[in-house]
Amino acid sequence: MLHLFKTLPKGHKILVGSVSALLALLLILPSDDAEAIRDHDLEKLKVGERYPLVVDVESRPLVESDVAPEYAWRTETVKSGDSLAKLFDRAGLSARTLHELLSQLGDAGKPLTVLRPGETLDFAKDEDGTLLAIRYAPSRTRIIDVVKDGDQYRLSDQSLPVEHREQFATGTITSNFWNAGISAGLSPAVIDGIANILGYDIDFALELREGDSFAVIYNQDFVDGDFLADSDILAVSFTNQGQTYNAVRHSDGNYYSPEGKSLRKAFLRSPVSYKYISSSFNPRRLHPVTGRVRPHNGIDYAAKTGTPVYASGDGRVMRSGYSSLNGNYVFIRHGEQFVTKYLHLSKRMVKTGQKVKQGQRIGNVGATGRVTGPHLHYEFLVNGVHRNPRTVKLPEASPVPKGELAAFKAQAGDMLARLESHRRIMLAMR
Ligand SMILES: [Zn+2]
Repeated sequence: MLHLFKTLPKGHKILVGSVSALLALLLILPSDDAEAIRDHDLEKLKVGERYPLVVDVESRPLVESDVAPEYAWRTETVKSGDSLAKLFDRAGLSARTLHELLSQLGDAGKPLTVLRPGETLDFAKDEDGTLLAIRYAPSRTRIIDVVKDGDQYRLSDQSLPVEHREQFATGTITSNFWNAGISAGLSPAVIDGIANILGYDIDFALELREGDSFAVIYNQDFVDGDFLADSDILAVSFTNQGQTYNAVRHSDGNYYSPEGKSLRKAFLRSPVSYKYISSSFNPRRLHPVTGRVRPHNGIDYAAKTGTPVYASGDGRVMRSGYSSLNGNYVFIRHGEQFVTKYLHLSKRMVKTGQKVKQGQRIGNVGATGRVTGPHLHYEFLVNGVHRNPRTVKLPEASPVPKGELAAFKAQAGDMLARLESHRRIMLAMR
């Protein structure tokens, strides 16, 4: 009846996304349940694989509410175009009751009037049809109760405590980061999170190699024991072509190296989504159309037509246009020193003179101009000179403030030690 408090039937199968979660379960389960997992033979477990666990979960009774639990509740679902008045009508409650309720609650009653389709409200009436209580959960972490107390309706707006649980995952690149993340049991949100944190140092589209590896500690949020969502990444370590990049979250929500240097920079390494890169073709030799050797002033990202292209830094569009060589192109000026260029687009989404933000979509990959196939040609100019976008030194954002540095370094050291010990346990299990 109350959708908020789901129960699981006994013996319900739960898919657990990572071996760490499995270990956590081993620790908390009573011995009978642990038996079921031992059957899987721990030594055969592989890192990055998913394993079904049979877990006995006792059916829990609906959480007893102090809102007159003996009432008979009736649930109404909000449909498109519904108002509280329509819901009252369907629940068999009068317009007069609604008026009385809203005038008594005043401003406190506002959340009841901004309902979204799909939400549910539970109504309790007595045998005379008098409204006794309403229960409404605008989100999984918030419950609004209205109770009739004598002649007065009273509203309580309650936030449920969110519990953070740390998760650990590790993986190795065999094809691309997206696939490695998925096989490590990570959600798309966490995979994107890692790519965003390290996307200034690592070009996830072109620079990853087979054998690159990563380890991450992140939070999962639970409400009343139920999984809500993946939340903050706390620390991540990524080894790319033999070089290890570490990032730790500071209390300001930004990510820094263990020494306290910012990972954010004025430019992204790669202006296209790493998810869709098919291959990197070798641009340094012959021109694909003329067959002549000619200098290539940028990087080519081979990707399907329609793949999003992003502004690599904040700036202003110098030119958004078309030519027979460049096809649809966008040039962006970033302050006095820097210019970035994006060629062969199938679609342009910005106009000359327009201001753009780092990460803003400016167009789509295409095959316009003189090309053999769809790709983004990307150039990076410093003071008018072409530089290699992959290796050029990029200006950094501010480091951890001096006053917080000692505390941050201690916390970062602790986090990285935990990453390392988790990683050792995983390796020992192989
Ligand atoms: Zn090119």
